[in-house]
Amino acid sequence: MISKIVPADLKHIAEAAKAIQRGELVSFPTETVYGLGGDATDDRAVAAIYAAKGRPTFNPLIVHVGSLPAAAELGEFSSDGVKLARKFWPGPLTLVVPRRKQCPLSLLVSAGLDSVALRVPAHPIAQALLAIGNRPLAGPSANPSGRISPTTAQHVEEGLGDKVAMILDGGPCQIGVESTVVSLLDGKPALLRPGGITVREIEAELGRAIEIAPSVGDAETGLHGPGRLLSHYAPERPVRLNAEDAREGEALLAFGPNVPPARIMLNLSAAGNLNEAAANLFAMLRALDRRDVTGIAVMPIPAEGLGIAINDRLMRAAAPR
Ligand code: AMP
Ligand code: MG
Repeated sequence: MISKIVPADLKHIAEAAKAIQRGELVSFPTETVYGLGGDATDDRAVAAIYAAKGRPTFNPLIVHVGSLPAAAELGEFSSDGVKLARKFWPGPLTLVVPRRKQCPLSLLVSAGLDSVALRVPAHPIAQALLAIGNRPLAGPSANPSGRISPTTAQHVEEGLGDKVAMILDGGPCQIGVESTVVSLLDGKPALLRPGGITVREIEAELGRAIEIAPSVGDAETGLHGPGRLLSHYAPERPVRLNAEDAREGEALLAFGPNVPPARIMLNLSAAGNLNEAAANLFAMLRALDRRDVTGIAVMPIPAEGLGIAINDRLMRAAAPR
């Protein structure tokens, strides 16, 4: 296999920015770990990130931006948010804030939630890629799900070399652990994931103690920690899975070429493509969650590739609550 690793000079950073604008994935160094980057406003690129990592669930991804003003175009910053951003950005701190009303980000990048995790990386190569690419980058760690995060370009190549257009080589990462994730939702700062910046530093800046997630664990596997704390998006109308057809009053969320008749219908992918279906999932669930329907009937989705994560999320959406 031809190596995807390239030196991170200006020429290659410009090429990487073009690839991202085309919807492709690029791995880039940050001060924490290597990221798997894609256009955070492009549902298809975000779906490709989940597919490449092989995550069995849709955990929301961190969105990288170049500055606090760029972040403030996407999310709403309270005074706590501004304080932490001014103190620790650029740097290894991710802030979970409400999405702005007109937020152009993919819904899939937030796993359907009304919040978004934002970070301004300090690494000059990440900064250059953001500036030249001129769009927010979804960037989870560039490792297959369940493996440890990559801190060199070679690690990325071993794990995901066939999934990316290129790997910008910036040498070993300085910090080597992921960013600290702090939620600022509901005016209650809470630690979701420990990382490059300590709780003490954050509390010192805020002038008060923050809530600590009961068990902060592995976001990749979702076995404990953030995965469990995350409230998941669920439609208001009941969701019925593996539906053969739409009953009276129901809207149909279809998949594939053979669709039964329905008064209101959206198709996740008429071609039966699971990446396309993932890209459409949250936007279509929201679109069908209408006052004039009694429920949402969902056709069967094959449990392979991204279909596993789609089924996981649909099961949560259908669970009694
Ligand atoms: P990664 O992108 O893989 O480095 O991990 C992102 C981390 O941020 C995970 O721990 C997520 O659970 C957390 N996260 C991202 N977005 C949100 C959100 N909207 N609400 C809560 N946690 C989030
Ligand atoms: Mg990760």
